[in-house]
Amino acid sequence: MRCSGYLFAHSAGEALSLLAELDGAGRVIAGGTDLMLAPGEAASATLVDISQIQELRYIEQRGERLHVGSLCTHEDLATSPLLHERAAALAAAAAAVGSPQIRSVGTVGGNVMNALPAADTAIALAALGATADVLGPGGTRETDLLTLYAGVGRSTVDPAREILTGFSFRIPRGSSFQRLAKRKALALPVLNAAAALWDDGEGGARTEVGIAVGPVATTPWRATEAERLVRGHAPTRELIEQAARTAMTTAVCRDSIRSCALYRQFMVEVLVRRALLEATGLAPTGREAAGPGTRSSAVRGRAHRAAPGRTDGGAFDQDAPASRRGGDR
Ligand SMILES: Cc1cc2nc3c(=O)[nH]c(=O)nc-3n(C[C@H](O)[C@H](O)[C@H](O)COP(=O)(O)OP(=O)(O)OC[C@H]3O[C@@H](n4cnc5c(N)ncnc54)[C@H](O)[C@@H]3O)c2cc1C
Repeated sequence: MRCSGYLFAHSAGEALSLLAELDGAGRVIAGGTDLMLAPGEAASATLVDISQIQELRYIEQRGERLHVGSLCTHEDLATSPLLHERAAALAAAAAAVGSPQIRSVGTVGGNVMNALPAADTAIALAALGATADVLGPGGTRETDLLTLYAGVGRSTVDPAREILTGFSFRIPRGSSFQRLAKRKALALPVLNAAAALWDDGEGGARTEVGIAVGPVATTPWRATEAERLVRGHAPTRELIEQAARTAMTTAVCRDSIRSCALYRQFMVEVLVRRALLEATGLAPTGREAAGPGTRSSAVRGRAHRAAPGRTDGGAFDQDAPASRRGGDR
C-alpha cells in the first residue's frame, strides 16, 4: 500500500496532535485490515498508526455498564471472560469475524469506522444500544453508535481529524448473536442478527430490548417495530414468534452477491427468533436454537451481575495475546 508517510502514536492525545499537525493530510490506521485493501483511500495520506495505544485497549465494567476500547482486537473480545459472562453477543460477533489472523489485528473501532451495515461487531453493539466516544479537536463527544453511520462505507467520524476511542453499553440480562454465512470462516455474513434484553422498572418487571439485523438497510438496522412488541412485557415464546415475524415484514432486504433479497427476508425471521430465544433463555438447547450452518452465542438463564468495577485485567484480557501484526485476505 502506498502512503506519503507513516507515524506511530503512543497515546490518544499524541495521535490527535499528529492529525492536527497534518491538517487533513493524515489518516488513522489501526489494524489495517480494511485500509490496506483500499489503497486509493490512503495513497496521499500520512498514516497515523494508533495500534500501539494501550489506553484504548480495555474491556471493563464500570457500575452497570461495560466499556470497550476501540483498539480491542476481535480476538480480545472473543476471548474476554467478562464479555462471555455479561455480553456474549459481542464476544460471539467478534469470534465470527474473518479468520484468526484477521481477528488478531482487526479492531472493533475499525469495524465500526468502516461503516458496513452487516459488520459483525457493529450489529452486536447496535443491539446492545451502545454509545461511542469520539475524540476530536474540541474534546470528547459521546454519541449513539448509529449516529456514526452516514451510509454504506461512510462514517460521520473523520479519520483525518478524529479518533473513535471506545464504546459503552448497559449490561443486559441476556444477549445473543446469530449469523448465517456460506462458510464458517472467512465469509462475510449473508445475514446477521443480535438481540439484548434488560429488566427495567420496579422489580425488573419491565423488559427493554434491542434487536439489530444486517445487511438490511444502508446502516446497521434496528428492528424497532419488533422491539416495540416485546418492550414492557415478559417475553414468551408466542411474543417472540410475533416479534420475529414483525422483524421479517418490516425489514427491507436487498439482493447482493451473497444472497437474494427474498431469502434474506425469510431468514430475518429465523435469526431474530433464535436471537430472542437465546437472549431470553427460552431456547430449549443450543443445538436446536442454533441449527445447522449458523453461529450463535447462547446466554441462557439470568446472568448474574458482576461486582461493580470488575475489569478484565485493565488493558485487555489476561490471556489475550499481545498485539500481532499480519493478516491475510
Ligand atoms: C479477509 C478479511 C475477512 C474479513 N471478515 C470480516 C467478517 O467476517 N466480519 C466483519 O465484520 N468484518 C470482516 N472483515 C473486515 C475487517 O477485518 C474489520 O472491519 C476490522 O475490524 C477493521 O479494523 P482495523 O483495525 O483493521 O481497521 P483499519 O483497516 O485500520 O481502519 C479501517 C478504517 O477505519 C479508520 N479507523 C480505524 N480505527 C479508527 C479509530 N479508532 N478512530 C478513527 N478512525 C479509525 C481508518 O482510517 C480506516 O478508514 C474482514 C477483513 C478481511 C481482510
